[in-house]
Amino acid sequence: MAHRVTLIPGDGTGPELTEATRRVLEATGVDFDWDVQHAGSDVMDQYGGNPLPDHVLDAIRESGVAIKGPITTPIGGGFRSVNVALRRGLDLYAQVRPCKTYQGVRSRYEGVDLVIVREATEDLYAGIEYEVGSDEARELTHWIRSHDGQLREDAGISIKPISVEGTQRILQFAFDYARRYGRRKVTSVHKANIMKFTDGLWLRTAREVAAQNSDIEFDDRIADNMCMQLVQHPEDYDVLVLPNLYGDIVSDLAAGLIGGLGVAPGANFGNRVAVFEPTHGSAPKYAGMNKANPMAQMLSGMLMLHHIGEHDAGVRLERAIAGLIREGKSVTHDLNPRRDDPTAVGTSDVADAVIAKLQA
Ligand code: NAD
Repeated sequence: MAHRVTLIPGDGTGPELTEATRRVLEATGVDFDWDVQHAGSDVMDQYGGNPLPDHVLDAIRESGVAIKGPITTPIGGGFRSVNVALRRGLDLYAQVRPCKTYQGVRSRYEGVDLVIVREATEDLYAGIEYEVGSDEARELTHWIRSHDGQLREDAGISIKPISVEGTQRILQFAFDYARRYGRRKVTSVHKANIMKFTDGLWLRTAREVAAQNSDIEFDDRIADNMCMQLVQHPEDYDVLVLPNLYGDIVSDLAAGLIGGLGVAPGANFGNRVAVFEPTHGSAPKYAGMNKANPMAQMLSGMLMLHHIGEHDAGVRLERAIAGLIREGKSVTHDLNPRRDDPTAVGTSDVADAVIAKLQA
């Protein structure tokens, strides 16, 4: 039976990248029933200024699985990030970013194989913010001062909520993911030494969840030390589970260890839905130019194949992409030693080369 999957092309380079990915996914021999849905700046005028119409969310809820191209968030004004709205609307609380070095990729490291699991609904990203000079900021400042907190009058305020329930579910997700994919260790990252009531709660809860999952090794690291450890000994780590902000920063650090955004896939999980998308954004300067690297989008498709139980196709697709990276011939400019290398190929050529490898 064909797998029904919602396909959101996105904007910027998104449509080219998702088209290349759709072609390679079909070339694995797996049957798909694509439900194409549009979101982003290009469609908002059609839907009364809403870049994420409700029917797109409903479509993902119904299929349970989506693959999505990047979507631009204009800086200042415009609409709030569609990506954040999508995560909120579907309660996609777990963001997973596997970071693996493929042979031949330009990186200072070899043998990196990490999975970053980022909590995606709480922490300083919860959107609870009060602008400097606003009545709310003044009121809150007054309240905090009357409770012995030191705060300047001219401070903007962002609130950092971390809950027991939110921490339990992301930790349990990390252990389940580790178990499902045969990983050996989960490391919880925090700054419990400084923020006792948020990160301290996180660490305490993490240890409780770990005690219920004792078949998998568990340890923890303070976030700053974690960054240094990753740069010095990335091979010592396996699955990292982090609150929202540290997760965002450390996943870019990890993408840097493995050769950059062009090869960094990602996925967002809720209880009943999963949305697969690369770590990178819409790279608008390459839009419509057939230049952007589709491998991160394709590798997100590979994660999707595993998620829907098509493990053999997932392994074959990853092997085909790894083969191209190793040979270094049919790759886009970003994977070449020189950005202006005349041998660099285009987005659709990479898809052709992956398909040829799959069929070889
Ligand atoms: P970006 O990831 O689009 O680009 C960062 C750099 O990496 C640029 O130099 C870009 O050209 C390059 N790059 C990115 N993807 C590439 C690819 N596939 N091949 C070759 N080079 C690639 O980040 P940005 O410029 O900060 O963001 C652009 C827009 O994307 C913003 O509006 C941002 O909000 C949005 N964004 C969306 C998502 C998402 O949809 N999930 C994620 C991040 C950023």
